[in-house]
Amino acid sequence: MAAAAAAVPSPKGSLREDLTCAICCDLFTEPVMLGCMHHFCRPCISRYWRGTQGPVTCPQCRKEFSSKQFQTNYLVTAMVEKVRASTSDTYIKNLEKQLKETLESHRLKREEFINSIRRDKDNTDTIKRVGADLQAHVKGEFRALHQILHDEETCALEQLSREQEQELEKVQRHLEATELAVRELEDNMRALQQASAAPENIMLAELPQLRPYVQVDIAQEFDTNAFSNKYMAPLQYITWRKMFKSLNPGPSPLTFDVDTAHPNIHVSRDKTAAVECDVTVPHMDHDKRFLQCVNILAAQGFQSGRHYWEVEVGSKAKWDLGVASEAVDRHARIKLSPESGYWTLRLRNGREYSAGTQPWTRLRLGSAPHRLGVFLDCEERRVSFYNADDMSLLYSFTNGPRGKAFPFFSPCISDGSQKPPPIKLLHYPPVALSG
Ligand SMILES: [Zn+2]
Ligand SMILES: [Zn+2]
Repeated sequence: MAAAAAAVPSPKGSLREDLTCAICCDLFTEPVMLGCMHHFCRPCISRYWRGTQGPVTCPQCRKEFSSKQFQTNYLVTAMVEKVRASTSDTYIKNLEKQLKETLESHRLKREEFINSIRRDKDNTDTIKRVGADLQAHVKGEFRALHQILHDEETCALEQLSREQEQELEKVQRHLEATELAVRELEDNMRALQQASAAPENIMLAELPQLRPYVQVDIAQEFDTNAFSNKYMAPLQYITWRKMFKSLNPGPSPLTFDVDTAHPNIHVSRDKTAAVECDVTVPHMDHDKRFLQCVNILAAQGFQSGRHYWEVEVGSKAKWDLGVASEAVDRHARIKLSPESGYWTLRLRNGREYSAGTQPWTRLRLGSAPHRLGVFLDCEERRVSFYNADDMSLLYSFTNGPRGKAFPFFSPCISDGSQKPPPIKLLHYPPVALSG
């Protein structure tokens, strides 16, 4: 109790002293004031003066009074009551309780703040660590691109050097042959000159022995155009087309797996377009086939590495697409969500885009994408969706599939009476580069 009282700085101690009777050394009981302004308890001063006849004195200052006179001091009475109340057990207990509670709330708040500081520090570390990892990742991606370009450049320059060397060799050979021919002609000329300078020395019965005449074509003008054609070309675009094939991941040229198609899905002959139809397509029974939902998978499944593919949805008003685990139940009607093995993006009513979480996560898109890009990173278990018109990120799942997964599509059943447009798998470049 003393400790608790000491913890509260207040002038109560001195006030209590001021309100203490000098006779009983306790708080005043019915305080009265003498003519000298000193206060005492009424019982104390009465007892003190009891038996005294004639003048009385103040026990404190010894001032004499002719009679036993004092005044009740209501102000002091009220103050004494206040001090008494504020030092009562109940009051002290309350005060202690309040102190304890305030202290506890401070302690909790402090703990909360300290945790928050720790979280801030953890976050700082995480941001720095993830940032550094991402920097390394981005650098690696660009290094790969630079490497492709560097290799292409080296290859082109080496080829150019080889061709230049060949052209130089050709000219050199021609030059040497022609020089040889000139020397031989000169030998012949010397022989002929000798013969004609001294005709009397020989019987000019026949021409001197001459070397056979060497046939050499006259040097053609070098065909600069033929030499330059291959290099004076849209070199950047040609290189970019080659580079495109080396991208990792570049767009995968998917095809639909007809064996998985719901009987109301019609797949084009080249297996790159799927459209829902009213009539049931004749089909073989297959374990892989979706029988309840109007779904279809791609023929290409992935369980490692990073993969990206693009799908054209055009102005179709309703679709689902994304990734499905190989293990999904094809014969049941299931809500699409990661928990059931589907990582999807969906469109309803031509403008309501959602991520296939449970419940759906509505997405606010600036524009309606006509082409969607899907990125699957098997190691990072990430499934991301892009607006392939401008490559803006639409949504990313970070709890992607474990094990083998397939590109997933649902053309849904259209409500409209118009013939629904198909879902198309896009292949880049449209005309395959061979070799
Ligand atoms: Zn007293
Ligand atoms: Zn006095």
